Amino acid sequence: MPPPAAAPPASVHRGAVAAGAYTGPGSGVPGAGELLQLLRDGQPRTRAELAKLAGLTRSTVSARIDALLASGLLAPSGEAASTGGRPPARFAFNPQARVAVGADLGATHGNIALTDLTGQPLSEVAERVDISAGPVTVLDWVVETTRRLLDEAGRQLDDLVGIGIGLPGPVEHSSGRPMRPPIMPGWDGYDVPGHVRRHWDVPVLVDNDVNIMALGEHAMAHPEVEHLLFVKVATGIGAGIISGRRLHRGAVGAAGDLGHVATPHAVDVLCTCGNTGCLEAVASGRAIIRELAAAGVPAMTNSDVVGLVSGGNIAAAQAVRQAGRTIGEVLATCVSLLNPDLVVIGGSLVQAGESLIAGVREVVYGRSLPLATGHLQIVPATTGIQAGVIGAATMVIRHALAADRVDEALASASSAPLAVGG
Ligand SMILES: [Zn+2]
Repeated sequence: MPPPAAAPPASVHRGAVAAGAYTGPGSGVPGAGELLQLLRDGQPRTRAELAKLAGLTRSTVSARIDALLASGLLAPSGEAASTGGRPPARFAFNPQARVAVGADLGATHGNIALTDLTGQPLSEVAERVDISAGPVTVLDWVVETTRRLLDEAGRQLDDLVGIGIGLPGPVEHSSGRPMRPPIMPGWDGYDVPGHVRRHWDVPVLVDNDVNIMALGEHAMAHPEVEHLLFVKVATGIGAGIISGRRLHRGAVGAAGDLGHVATPHAVDVLCTCGNTGCLEAVASGRAIIRELAAAGVPAMTNSDVVGLVSGGNIAAAQAVRQAGRTIGEVLATCVSLLNPDLVVIGGSLVQAGESLIAGVREVVYGRSLPLATGHLQIVPATTGIQAGVIGAATMVIRHALAADRVDEALASASSAPLAVGG
């Protein structure tokens, strides 16, 4: 991924370099960051293979490899088969060189993971955290928990490349500030990166929970897919758009806000946003619960709905399938507009088995043109609750390991004394 759609303010990101994240003697070699990108797939390669792949001379590649070896981001990885004489050494990206932190904050949960540089969790904490307690309380919890995870893993602060945070509301990604979030009193316009960076001078990137789930699901379950649309169906409804393997945030970070798209049905149903007939007002977990209550089937939460469907309750299965169809109507338009390879349905209601997905498929395949649906797959999410923390960590890792930031960091490290953790 991609540098964020809008360049974050310099004050937020100088930390990538200032933290001395990559260190080693004499390692300022322009282009080393670019070479690292080729190795991020984890494949071990020889100097000759890398020279060919990068279209560079052996000596240029060797200098870049040495710089990356000194930083720890690259490590020796055995030897290739000999073609006569000494077998050539191979090198591979070293995901253990540093760590990242991904925090997934929901309405009532806080999940934090310490990850390696592929976004794979090394240790995790899941606690009940009330987002309505306000930014100071919640972000102090993030800071304390991060400190604890680093201590327990025996990692130094210099090992941390950054912290990614997902919040349950709209976020202006370039500044990391929530924008009029409906369920987050006290958070509107709050400087989330500034709060966390008072403790550590590392990059802190913030996005909404659906975008980080889309990133997590893409990175872990479908890294080869170019165009993916992730739809979260839970108490609310939202989407994350991955186009050309990059998260597409739109002008101010509001891309994918599907919940308040008008559906042709139920024009009289009032939505929490004040409009009527929004998708979220007729097809979310909240809407299904309301509908079941009217039919005399008691359900308080999304897991109650999932339980009813798994237990064979016909009214619940029908309500979920109908919600799937209504979501499918909006997705048919999205599919025509975006032509994704894959639509992934996630969120707590996807656990209601096939009912939801079947409703979505029925309408999307029925309504979209054959060219758009010929290869289109619509599948349930598989990364589960880890999608959020993995996606949040992935967001900040991609930022910190972008070619130009690696070069800057190597250059500043080469003029600084050797730091811990290299
Ligand atoms: Zn609405």
